[in-house]
Amino acid sequence: MNGFRALLGEANCLTEAADIAPYATDWRGQQGAMPAAVVRPATVEQAAGVLRLAAEHGMHVVPNGGRTGLSGGALPIPGNAPILIVSLERMRRIRALDPVDMSIAVDAGITVQAVQEAAREAGRHFPLSFGAQGSAQIGGALSTNAGGINTLRYGNARDLVLGLEVVLPDGRVLDDMRRIRKDNTGYALRHLFLGAEGTLGLITGASLKLFPALRTRETAFLSVPSPHHALRLLSRMQDSGADLVAFELMDSHLVELTVGYVPGLRMPVPMTTPWCVIIEAGSPHPAAPVRELMESALAEALDAGEAIDVMLAESEEARTMIWRIRESAPEASRSTGPAVPTDTAVPVSAVPEFLDAVLALSEARWPGMRVGAMGHLGDGNIHISLHGPAGMPREEWLRQAGGFAEAVNELAVRTGGSFSAEHGIGLTKLKGMSTLKNPVAVSLMRAIKGAIDPTGLMNPGKVLPPG
Ligand SMILES: Cc1cc2nc3c(=O)[nH]c(=O)nc-3n(C[C@H](O)[C@H](O)[C@H](O)COP(=O)(O)OP(=O)(O)OC[C@H]3O[C@@H](n4cnc5c(N)ncnc54)[C@H](O)[C@@H]3O)c2cc1C
Repeated sequence: MNGFRALLGEANCLTEAADIAPYATDWRGQQGAMPAAVVRPATVEQAAGVLRLAAEHGMHVVPNGGRTGLSGGALPIPGNAPILIVSLERMRRIRALDPVDMSIAVDAGITVQAVQEAAREAGRHFPLSFGAQGSAQIGGALSTNAGGINTLRYGNARDLVLGLEVVLPDGRVLDDMRRIRKDNTGYALRHLFLGAEGTLGLITGASLKLFPALRTRETAFLSVPSPHHALRLLSRMQDSGADLVAFELMDSHLVELTVGYVPGLRMPVPMTTPWCVIIEAGSPHPAAPVRELMESALAEALDAGEAIDVMLAESEEARTMIWRIRESAPEASRSTGPAVPTDTAVPVSAVPEFLDAVLALSEARWPGMRVGAMGHLGDGNIHISLHGPAGMPREEWLRQAGGFAEAVNELAVRTGGSFSAEHGIGLTKLKGMSTLKNPVAVSLMRAIKGAIDPTGLMNPGKVLPPG
């Protein structure tokens, strides 16, 4: 470790078990293999030095963001080489912000929320938004190509990137930190590293798109009879003229659970239907008639029976409460016991039939067990979990009900969808890469991995199935 200590200083090379264990554990509480060390570079030069030294010593490198990933991508796995976790927690600078170019350049260790706040202070908007944004880092969000609640309007993390800075496995730096909108000079290399989950290099910086700040924003919470009704409501809202920012679907049981779990939350509307929807629309113009457009579309939706009860937030406090219900749902759900989670996307128009099929399947194979569903109906990404009895160890429930995820994933792919919409492959979806992913695509991915990381040092065992 002497080379790393000389490069980074003693305090930034952790080797004591108590210091490094948290870096090998993720949000779900899963524990990875213990690494030989955790190193914390503060600059791209130090990060490049770290990867050069790791390559010299034949170490396996696991990039570490906020460890909020839900597919196990940041968990080290045992192998035939010492493991080095590289944490970017000291790389959190905003390098530049240009409100005219609508861009912000940041170190990759900055949190998603800190980028949102910096944009807001400059009168701009950074739209990537999801429950873990206070801990998730830009490097992690880009490496998993995170989605979240605003994909409907602004796209995934990938769509928000203008340029990248990446340290390659041999320590060379690919400096593509540009803020231009058009560049057709050959292959768009940055896209290889976006969604690569640290298997091709270490992202150390990113140049990101900003948007006009939303100065008028309206948020509604509705009870709806079924996902079929919710889909009709989505079409109605898209035609309403109130520019949609988010359209989320949750099952009512999950809403009740979350409201009971988080102190201070209240039910926005009586829970008389099995499903709920959260809608947000917004405009950069402070006098844009978003509220009027929402009100009239929602009144029509009530008349048409697409929704039963509606609360249109009257204050920022009410709006925050609605979003806290959505954002706290994963944590509340986790508190009830073990679950088999999924992260599927299907064409938006197919979501209701897909959900019907999953519910029928679970009732036939795991009768009486609770199915939790929530997701981003506006972009077709629904998370469906099969919940086991309270108190049952997670491993035991995975043994009993692991087939649920496989069946749901297969159904999604047969419906023209994906078995990993926004959480990545990591460790937990490797099987799908063997069984459900196009084999030509997998062989091209292997060729790319071989070209960029020929000795397989970067995050081994993730994304690509053993082959
Ligand atoms: C409560 C909760 C809600 C969530 N909601 C959403 C949601 O709505 N939408 C969504 O898309 N996700 C969601 N997630 C998942 C998660 O927050 C995202 O996957 C997030 O983008 C991961 O960022 P991270 O910094 O925590 O990355 P980590 O978990 O630390 O790492 C994820 C992967 O990226 C790699 N990596 C990390 N940093 C770098 C880097 N600098 N360079 C190269 N590789 C790197 C890691 O090796 C790993 O493979 C949620 C998670 C939680 C806990």
